[in-house]
Amino acid sequence: MIWNLGSINADNFYHLSHLPAPGETIAATRFHQGLGGKGANMSVAAARAAARVAHIGAVGPEGKWAVDRLLEYGVDTRHIAQVEVATGHANINVDAAGENNIVLFTGANHAITDQMIGAALSEASPGDFLLMQNETSGQSYAARTGKTLGLRFAYAAAPFSSQAVQAVINHIDLLVLNAVEAAQLQEETGQRIEDLPIDDIIVTLGADGCKWVSNKGKTAQEFASYPVEVVNTTGAGDTFTGYLIAGLDRGLPMPDAIDLAMRAGALMVTREGTADVIPDLKEIQDHDF
Ligand code: ADP
Repeated sequence: MIWNLGSINADNFYHLSHLPAPGETIAATRFHQGLGGKGANMSVAAARAAARVAHIGAVGPEGKWAVDRLLEYGVDTRHIAQVEVATGHANINVDAAGENNIVLFTGANHAITDQMIGAALSEASPGDFLLMQNETSGQSYAARTGKTLGLRFAYAAAPFSSQAVQAVINHIDLLVLNAVEAAQLQEETGQRIEDLPIDDIIVTLGADGCKWVSNKGKTAQEFASYPVEVVNTTGAGDTFTGYLIAGLDRGLPMPDAIDLAMRAGALMVTREGTADVIPDLKEIQDHDF
C-alpha cells in the first residue's frame, strides 16, 4: 500500500494568440482544465500501475471535481480534506507558438495539517510506502511519523529546495531526483550524491534513462531509456516515480521496478497532457518498445 502526501492542482490552460504584456487584456481562444500537481500525478500513476494508493491532501471548496477524478482513476481519496483555501492551481498561458508562462498558487496544498496526516497514517501498516514531493505542508511531521510506524519513505525532491530535502533527509529510504535537481543538491550541500546517507537514490536523466545509486553510494548502475518520439515531456518524472513505487510496493526488485517505470515514462512523453493521460499497465505491456 502507498500513502502519498501530495499536491492536487487544477491545471488551467488558456490558449492565446500571444502572451499578454503588462496591462494588456486578451481573450483566450480556448480553455481547458486538467488535473495536475506532482502529488496527484504520482497517485494516478501508481493507481494505473495497479497499486493500492491513498492520497493525503487537501482541496478548496470548489475542488470536488479533482477528488472525483482521482477516485475515478482508482485512488483512495478518503484522506483528502476540503478546506477553506482555494484548490492549488497553475494558470498556464500558451501562445500560438507553444511558448508559455505560468502562475502557480499552492492554495489548499499548504493547508494540510499534521493532524490530517496523523489520522491518515494511523491506518498505515509497517512496510507500506510513504511517498512525498515538495509541494505540500506537513512534510517533516509525515516523515517522522512514517519512520516511527516502520513505513518505507520515498521522496521525490521536486520542485527542488535544498532546505526541504535537508528537513527530511535522515528519514529518506529512496530519493528520486532528475538531473537538474541532483546537480542543485550536490552544489548546495557540497556533497556528492553518492555520499548522501540514503540507501537508494535514483537520478532520472530524461532521454538518457536513469542511474541507481545504492547501498549508501557503494554501487551504481545505469539504465538506458526506451527510444520514443517525444511530443511533450511534462509529467514524465511523476509517471516514472509513481510506477517505480508501485513496482517496489508489489515486491519487484529495484532493476525490474526501474524498467517498468522507464517504460511508463517513455510512453508518457509521447502524449500531450498530464494526470489524465498517464498510461496504464496494459498499455505498457501492449506497447512494442
Ligand atoms: P522530469 O520530468 O522529472 O524532469 P525526466 O525528464 O528525467 O524527469 O524523465 C523521467 C523518466 O522518463 C526518465 O528517466 C526516462 O525513463 C523517461 N523519459 C523521459 N524523457 C524521455 C525520452 N525523451 N525518451 C524516453 N524516455 C524518457
